[in-house]
Amino acid sequence: MFGRFAFFAFLILADLLPFKGLLAQNLFPRGSIQSPKEFLGYELGERFTPHHRLVDYAEHIAEHSDRVVLTYYGETYEHRPLIALFVSAPANIAQLETIRQDNLKRAGILPGTPETRVPITWFSYNVHGNEAVGVETAIMTLWSLVDSANTQSAAWLKETVVAIDPCLNPDGHTRYVNWYQQKANLRTQPDSQSTEHFEPWPGGRPNHYLFDLNRDWAWQVQQESQQRSILYQQWLPQIHIDFHEQGVDHPYFFAPAAEPVHPYVSVFQRTFQETAGKNIAQYFDRNAWLYFTREVFDLFYPGYGDTWPTFNGAIGMTYEQAGSGRAGLAIQTSVGDTLTLRDRMLHHYTAGMATIETVVRHREQLLEEFSNYFADAVANPPGKYRTYVLKAGDTPARLSAIKTLLDRNGIQYGNAQVRGRLNGYSYATGLPDTLSIAEADVVVSAHQAKAVLVQTLFDPNPSLTDSLTYDITSWAIPYAHGVNAFALEQRLDVLPLRSTEDNGRSASGRIGSERDVDSSSEHGTGVLAYVIPWHASVHVRFLAGLLDAGLRVRFASQDFHVGGTSFKAGSLIVGREGNEGILDFEELIHQLARKHAVEPIPVQTGYMDLGKDFGSAAVRVVVKPRVAIIAGPGVSSSSFGELWHYFEQDLDYPFSVIDLSRVGPADLSAYNVLILPSGNYHTLGESGCRRLNDWVVAGGKLIAIESALASLAGKSGFGITEFLTEIERKDAEKRKEEMAADQLLLAYGDRERAALSTRFSGAIYSVHTDSTHPLGYGLAGRFYTMKNRASRYAYLKNGINVGTIRSEADHRSGFAGHEARQSVAESLVFGVEGHGKGHIVYFVDNPIFRGFWEQGKLVLGNAVFLVGQ
Ligand SMILES: [Zn+2]
Repeated sequence: MFGRFAFFAFLILADLLPFKGLLAQNLFPRGSIQSPKEFLGYELGERFTPHHRLVDYAEHIAEHSDRVVLTYYGETYEHRPLIALFVSAPANIAQLETIRQDNLKRAGILPGTPETRVPITWFSYNVHGNEAVGVETAIMTLWSLVDSANTQSAAWLKETVVAIDPCLNPDGHTRYVNWYQQKANLRTQPDSQSTEHFEPWPGGRPNHYLFDLNRDWAWQVQQESQQRSILYQQWLPQIHIDFHEQGVDHPYFFAPAAEPVHPYVSVFQRTFQETAGKNIAQYFDRNAWLYFTREVFDLFYPGYGDTWPTFNGAIGMTYEQAGSGRAGLAIQTSVGDTLTLRDRMLHHYTAGMATIETVVRHREQLLEEFSNYFADAVANPPGKYRTYVLKAGDTPARLSAIKTLLDRNGIQYGNAQVRGRLNGYSYATGLPDTLSIAEADVVVSAHQAKAVLVQTLFDPNPSLTDSLTYDITSWAIPYAHGVNAFALEQRLDVLPLRSTEDNGRSASGRIGSERDVDSSSEHGTGVLAYVIPWHASVHVRFLAGLLDAGLRVRFASQDFHVGGTSFKAGSLIVGREGNEGILDFEELIHQLARKHAVEPIPVQTGYMDLGKDFGSAAVRVVVKPRVAIIAGPGVSSSSFGELWHYFEQDLDYPFSVIDLSRVGPADLSAYNVLILPSGNYHTLGESGCRRLNDWVVAGGKLIAIESALASLAGKSGFGITEFLTEIERKDAEKRKEEMAADQLLLAYGDRERAALSTRFSGAIYSVHTDSTHPLGYGLAGRFYTMKNRASRYAYLKNGINVGTIRSEADHRSGFAGHEARQSVAESLVFGVEGHGKGHIVYFVDNPIFRGFWEQGKLVLGNAVFLVGQ
């Protein structure tokens, strides 16, 4: 116990050292180092190791081995530590900080010439919590590297630093392991029908907020990703392996990856995947273990643990073992074999060790190519465009979230002082256009160390080598954030903004650009009200803060002009009227404004130069939403998780969670906003839908998202209908019959591909928006939706169609099968239907997809706070 306490005490000291928080080297006398069995009390593979025991063991190893440095790089939402171990020969450990800096020099991130030549190999385990072989393999690998009996390891460690992140998702891992421990039979039960092989909703794969962390590497919406990204970029390894598990019947998967491979993956990166794969194959062949390569797991979407490291200069690879949350300690496969946890560990362990061997063998080439990669990036970035211009225009606050995202990815940006008109590709129209650069605009040059990441994240139309992909096919930042932007073929010199911007940013880097308001200068006796513009998610956050603090807030339902400034509909008005009870009204406003980095504009009169006066009925009071979100089996856990994260982390606004099975007995009158995340609500039945309908008629606001619409369509009281008119229906049926006939003759091997014609894989559409309706406030006529489902809904006949796709030409980017493309014309994206005293808001597409579809947070905010007021 004392040892552990002393270790923590040292960590606190370590915090004060120059490499603060990065390396926590222990200085304790070496005692006897214990094997996993000696320390944990069981043989690896006999049980799942709980996360806190993993941490204990990592501390034990760090305390007793001169080959290991342990770092605590962060904390999960449930307050579990995130740790990484740096393992190398004692001589390397002694100069670990030099090795790290040398590697950044090699990448051109730090100035100077490297003195050491030690490549970094990085192993990431258990990003999916229920793929619980990860933690066990990490312990096995760690022990094998530090065990003095292992001379092979000692030799390898002279040539490389192996970084082990033993558990990227401790909260998900704990959810799975705790559940499994409660359900598993005492005697191993491989019967795949037994209850221990069926995880309950939501399962251990995602993190606390039910996000898939292996979709979040680029966006870093989740705390775990943000903290890991900081550590990762302090090192920039040459090799990154992401260890996973797949279905129980699959053979092992390792590199090379499948197509589509992103076109910006370099030739060397592709070739080295083969080099690494072939070395693993030798060991697997020797053991007669089956495996497959170049199938299923592609290298395209930048949110993965293989692609994002690849776009950061590494050879990023995914290794997939059969198992996951289904497999428990042992499970019978469909061919009758028994797959044990021990087997799963051995496979992953072997692939990992073979990878270290490959790195050691090719270390000089890896270092050489790594330097070249970054030199090339700066001198000759891939792709057609050289510069990206993000216009501040009439939505300047939208740039702050982009700056945060760029900072998190280590991408440089600034401003370009160029006068006159330039030519570029307009993201808004999808056509060439002219532009000029204003001082508040953000300019990103592709000529920088992170060039490939820049190109990947900004490319308006990433080219696919194969449309059969695992994930979405477009994500360009200007679309996700709804900013007016241009891609230029011309190179511009960019002057960095970052140093001045950084001063105003909170430590977490969460909130960006708008100027802080100096409260003292704004205090005045004559202030009647403060007006806050409304065009970015930060404004929704501010409104949530005002309401939560008990302030009365109004919003303008029409544009207005006062004291020389024009404001758009949706602008918030916080006046003295109604807030007399607030002790220090102005101080509170300014405090909240500083916290949320928005700029309230003081107004001395309620008499408008143009538009409705503050006392007009057109200026409405925001009734404080009392929000409930439906969750539980049937509901998409990721859709629920995105809403949970939105209310808790984005807005810091209270809400209740009602289990779908409890909707019947629940007293819904306690809420005035009810949200149905994407999901299947058929269990509500007729009576459940009637209850919801009665609640709406009585004044409730129901917000239904994505696949939730299918459960409401056609039900009495809900006007949403699938797209077909009678003629269209007949047409479609006929077409279906013809297609079926075609299908009958289609070669078996082509069928999977044929199914693509009706599919959207993250296709981006420009949406026609009605900015005069509260659901469209602040959009400035610019909204892009990401389509992941082919379901198409008709314009509402008895409602307001606020967001619509009019024609095929509204497609901007990403894969849409030719039939899907045709069918989407004249369809609803989002709209509102009045019903009795209440309202129903329909979102055909997920407005806050993976939490990175930033502009959707504003529309969702409109739905929650402004619609129906
Ligand atoms: Zn996985």
